[in-house]
Amino acid sequence: MHEYSVASAIVDQVKVIVEEHKATQVKKIIVTASPYDVIIPELLVEAYGIIIHGLDKFKDSTLEIQISKAEIRCIDCDYAGEPDEKGDPEFAYNFICPECGSRDTHVNMKNLTIETVDLVIPDN
Ligand SMILES: [Zn+2]
Repeated sequence: MHEYSVASAIVDQVKVIVEEHKATQVKKIIVTASPYDVIIPELLVEAYGIIIHGLDKFKDSTLEIQISKAEIRCIDCDYAGEPDEKGDPEFAYNFICPECGSRDTHVNMKNLTIETVDLVIPDN
């Protein structure tokens, strides 16, 4: 299951952040995925729940997945930003530049990133 390895990678990264901040508890993790990441959010949350089972610092923590908007760069006019909505959003390589109408565009694929980690950090 793809989501399982993704969730596992998230937990590994957060463990490092927990160490860095000497946190006692993870409350919430927010990750951003691009619309073209091959991820089913429900399965990712499910996998996350399985992985954190037995990890005290992750007990009762939640994982939230936000889907970011697609971004393109136009080869013809150098426009960068959101594609024209007339492009087919189901097909990542069929975007239209809103500036010049060109279909010669690159999609900026943003990998799944950890945006926020909500931690409990004890006062010294
Ligand atoms: Zn253009």
